[in-house]
Amino acid sequence: MKPTLYMVIPCYNEEAVLPLTAPLFLEQLRSMQAQELISADSRILFVNDGSTDTTWDIIRSLAAEESAFLGISQSRNRGHQNAVLAGLMEAKDLCDITISIDCDGQDDVAAMEEMVRQYLDGCEVVYGVRSSRDTDSRFKRTSAHGFYKLLNAMGAEVVYNHADYRLISAKALQALAQFKEVNLFLRGMVPLVGFKSTSVYYERRERLAGESKYPLRKMLSLAFDGITSLSVKPLRLISALGMLSAVISLIGVVWAVLSKWLGNTVAGWTSTVFVVCFLGAVQLICLGIVGEYIGKIYMEIKGRPRYIISERTESKE
Ligand code: UDP
Ligand code: MG
Repeated sequence: MKPTLYMVIPCYNEEAVLPLTAPLFLEQLRSMQAQELISADSRILFVNDGSTDTTWDIIRSLAAEESAFLGISQSRNRGHQNAVLAGLMEAKDLCDITISIDCDGQDDVAAMEEMVRQYLDGCEVVYGVRSSRDTDSRFKRTSAHGFYKLLNAMGAEVVYNHADYRLISAKALQALAQFKEVNLFLRGMVPLVGFKSTSVYYERRERLAGESKYPLRKMLSLAFDGITSLSVKPLRLISALGMLSAVISLIGVVWAVLSKWLGNTVAGWTSTVFVVCFLGAVQLICLGIVGEYIGKIYMEIKGRPRYIISERTESKE
């Protein structure tokens, strides 16, 4: 049985690029159908993320002309991650596999063939990983590198150089649907879902038209969301800082007492230094403890699934 594929494509104010890339997606779909990789009822699902230009009109006319094109529209702009999730959740009951890809033509559509082959080989998740960042500006390259380093240091597990170009099977999507959190960082959530996964490498090109919808402000907020929604390590750092300052203040106290003995202090200095060091350390340690509990509450409140079963043995009858 050939799997039914839904391509999920978020679009926000993309009137300049959509007329150029929509035919490319369709061509890729047809070519995979011709190779018998995917079924005839595979579709291309555009998700309009509350665009203020004519993007939705373009999607509607594409869908009117060609039955392979479908569209859904969000009531307002909610951001890329939410748009992708909306599309994936819409598709999960209609297909066997989804591939999410940006609509600007930067990601090489040809890599989809390898993704589907990996799925047919038993992988439920296939990450599209860019093999180089030559087309990015130096700034974007170094900042992206720093971003992955920081995420990993903060205990968030993400695939290096993978954005949101990936194949997810319907089975893995059913599990992803159990993650009820509102602050989304799909790159970190998909690895948490588990299942057999692999990576496929591709070259990322320049945007075909239009401008990036990810200015520095949005990139920083995504990075911050990534860290805070995947890890409570920043809170734990407060405890570590408290311990460190307790050690330092102990040294400070010894120094203050020694200075007093040696007689080169004014009256009251020793006790002042003592109080400042002691209270500083106590406060930080207490904040750290409170932080630990807040971290626990935060993780609990997300209501993430406690287990996900990937397979069951067939019953023998
Ligand atoms: N996008 C979206 N909502 C937003 C911002 C972006 O759906 O609020 C979509 C956009 O249309 C594109 C994808 O997310 O398909 C990636 O955006 P972009 O190419 O501008 O980001 P970059 O590649 O520059 O990081
Ligand atoms: Mg782009």
